[in-house]
Amino acid sequence: MQVATPAGFRHDPGLVWQFYAYRRHEALKAKPNPAHYALAELSRRMGPGCVTLTQNVDNLSPRAGHPEGQLKQLHVNLFNMRCVDVVGCGYVDEGNFADPLTPALDTTRAEAAAIGRVGAGSKPKASPMLLAGLARKNAQILGDKFDDKSPKTDDLAPLKAADAAERPRPMSDVRMSSGLGKEDLPQCPKCKTNILRPGVVWFGEALAENTAEEAEALFAEESEPIDLCLVIGTSSKVWPTAGYAEKARKKGARVATINVDAGDAKGLRPGTDWVFVGDAAQVLPELLRPAIGGPEGWKDVSS
Ligand SMILES: [Zn+2]
Repeated sequence: MQVATPAGFRHDPGLVWQFYAYRRHEALKAKPNPAHYALAELSRRMGPGCVTLTQNVDNLSPRAGHPEGQLKQLHVNLFNMRCVDVVGCGYVDEGNFADPLTPALDTTRAEAAAIGRVGAGSKPKASPMLLAGLARKNAQILGDKFDDKSPKTDDLAPLKAADAAERPRPMSDVRMSSGLGKEDLPQCPKCKTNILRPGVVWFGEALAENTAEEAEALFAEESEPIDLCLVIGTSSKVWPTAGYAEKARKKGARVATINVDAGDAKGLRPGTDWVFVGDAAQVLPELLRPAIGGPEGWKDVSS
């Protein structure tokens, strides 16, 4: 939460870019799991009435062949970038899978530098592993601060953690510097003046307007009733998404939570809602088997 903010980017864009370069690298190495494939298959079979709202930014659902129009990536994804000058320039780069994005953002070099393997004259690098640790630590600090008394927000409201009182320390408290200059970071090819920033939605930023409106429309009074809402692998600690299950209940949905931690299921109604505790990669294909059969019958789409 220190890195994934506009303030963090203003403080040290190189550090933020190192964090995202590492995440891009790891996401490209990862592969969709059986839950991604099962959900894609369910969506194909059910058609447009089956919509997935995802907070994931790793691009694994598209890679599993999830029908594009039925997948709303609320926080965009790691492979989109845009010019920092949103109004004046407005350049957007979608689906850029280059790794590394620039020589200075080569994650393997950065790791070597962090353990002193890069010769004199090289720019100092904060270790991506250290950054990942920092992110994990922050997640731990946030911990179980969620409760149902947390403020409700509109879907266009800025992304935020459930408990605003538990603000992380400001980025200026982070005692490391990327040592990277503007010239080391992805450049805007359109205005040729600014650097690009990750396209993901940061804490304190609003969801992309079109995506948020599409999500909101599902829960609008005049829209179709909802019969089932699957809440898969989310801690439900980040708004506005954390409020979607309750909105679905108001539209008539029964809610099934699939999570390794039963404590992440919120607002349960005994006798109506379900909780399935376990790894979604194992639980979801089994749950959906009556509807979509086993993996041997799924359309084989992968990239
Ligand atoms: Zn630009």
